[in-house]
Amino acid sequence: MRTLIMATNNEHKLREVRQILGERFVVKGLSDIGCHEDIPETGDTFESNAREKARYVHEHYGVDCFADDSGLEVDALGGQPGIYTARFAAINGYGDGHDSSANIRLLLERLKGETNRRARFRTVICLIEGERERLFEGIVEGDIVTEPRGTNGFGYDPVFAPEESGLTFSEMGPEEKNRISHRARAVKALVRGLSEE
Ligand code: IMP
Repeated sequence: MRTLIMATNNEHKLREVRQILGERFVVKGLSDIGCHEDIPETGDTFESNAREKARYVHEHYGVDCFADDSGLEVDALGGQPGIYTARFAAINGYGDGHDSSANIRLLLERLKGETNRRARFRTVICLIEGERERLFEGIVEGDIVTEPRGTNGFGYDPVFAPEESGLTFSEMGPEEKNRISHRARAVKALVRGLSEE
């Protein structure tokens, strides 16, 4: 069985990626290779952030790995919060750090009375194997609902309803979310890339 190292310590993400990949791969996180520091993320695109995280782990720990960077792009907000998705409320002076309820409150506030609710989640994965670097992308289109619904998942899941379903990600079970999510699509592209070799 092939082992992949994912440059994250986020247990939610590791669990999702393990569910998506199934039995064919063993996915280890950063704590499994003794990396507990915060990895710099200074880019201004998902691509540059994913690349920066993967390169950091590759250079400092000498392992092949992949890193992902994701976020929410809301059309009525000109594509924001984008790379600031995790810290949307904090950079606007509300909550501290990665506070999902503050993020959701601010998003709903900014979209109050707005009829264009169109948004998408986007994930970019950077895979580094030896000298070779590759990027993979996954997108899910949907709408921001007017009130949070559901209890599953994390982040903006209670307010994002993918166009394939009337439910929010939080109202779906993990299998359904993992069938259509941005991360699932990016991970599937990664698997296709790995199996083409
Ligand atoms: P990250 O780069 O994958 O850590 O994503 C940045 C932020 O986007 C996260 O902190 C979440 O707030 C949000 N996000 C990413 N993926 C999801 C998801 O699947 N559901 C809900 N929110 C997400």
